[in-house]
Amino acid sequence: MTQLIDPFGRAVTYLRVSVTDRCDFRCVYCMSEDMTFLPKAEILTLEELDRVASAFVRLGVRKLRLTGGEPLVRRNIMSLFRSLARHLGTGALDELTLTTNGSQLPRFADELADLGVKRINVSLDTLDADKFAAITRWGKYDKVMAGLAAAKAAGLRIKINTVALKGVNDEEFDDLVAWCGDEGYDLTFIEVMPLGEIGEGARLDQYLPLSLVRARLQERWTLEEIDLKTGGPARYVRVKETGGRIGFITPMTHNFCEGCNRVRLTCTGTLYMCLGQEDAADLRAPVRSSESDEPLNAAIHEAIARKPKGHDFIIDRRSHQPAVGRHMSVTGG
Ligand code: SAM
Ligand code: SF4
Repeated sequence: MTQLIDPFGRAVTYLRVSVTDRCDFRCVYCMSEDMTFLPKAEILTLEELDRVASAFVRLGVRKLRLTGGEPLVRRNIMSLFRSLARHLGTGALDELTLTTNGSQLPRFADELADLGVKRINVSLDTLDADKFAAITRWGKYDKVMAGLAAAKAAGLRIKINTVALKGVNDEEFDDLVAWCGDEGYDLTFIEVMPLGEIGEGARLDQYLPLSLVRARLQERWTLEEIDLKTGGPARYVRVKETGGRIGFITPMTHNFCEGCNRVRLTCTGTLYMCLGQEDAADLRAPVRSSESDEPLNAAIHEAIARKPKGHDFIIDRRSHQPAVGRHMSVTGG
């Protein structure tokens, strides 16, 4: 089938799908406490999400990641996983995975593993239950720990995503590295990004460059460079003492766009060709206007032809405005 090649010669082989903008947590860097969520009519049904994702698979996408909001709080979400898993069976898809806050994994871990999900990303910024409550506002630490245990027992490989937050979790990085080593989890640190309005000044206060995180980790651990290509923007090292891997995602300090192979679909059917740019394409109209996939395929091709070379994130010190107005929970992390 026709490959999706952007104007800079990059093949688009990875689609992230935000299946809902809702969440059972209210992480301080991601959402305001009183978020207004989208009306149901604007949200693609599970069948429509399947149609769009499957169109991408036919056009050469090899990896699908469901995210959100919290993907596992969308009602009947397992039916979408089940139908998308058919592409694993045919060999059209290499990987079906998700990013989750872990709260619903006690319910769903076994089923995900049965469907052919092999590894998952679980977001966790702290091992301190009180801090966890402060960061997530509504999250339950014990539930996430139970979710991780369920995922491990189901045989899922786990990568922990940790947002580095100055003055919040920066004393804990060594503990996280040691804990991930013990549990057999990979770990990725993420720099806080200027996405969505969350309250004045908050982002500047939280921003902690990963170059500093790495330098600090090196005081305690031996970090060995490894050449691991995951198709993602993270750079990886191996921790000699634990054997575990650590990734660093540094959108703010390092231009990670060069090898970008991904695009993002929101739950309303809007396709973002770059996390850090406003340009987007509406795929909901072609899906709803016709039972044929022709208009949808055409809209996808047209969008990929507009994929920009890269982002230009800055945390603007004068205006304190986010570089991009939409929240991460809308675009999908
Ligand atoms: N609810 C799921 C979760 O938390 O894993 C999936 C969606 S969440 C938006 C995806 C990832 O984005 C999480 O790892 C979260 O920590 C991260 N994230 C959210 N807002 C962010 C921001 N402003 N800067 C950097 N990472 C952010
Ligand atoms: Fe929810 Fe994930 Fe955003 Fe936290 S980071 S509020 S868990 S979507």
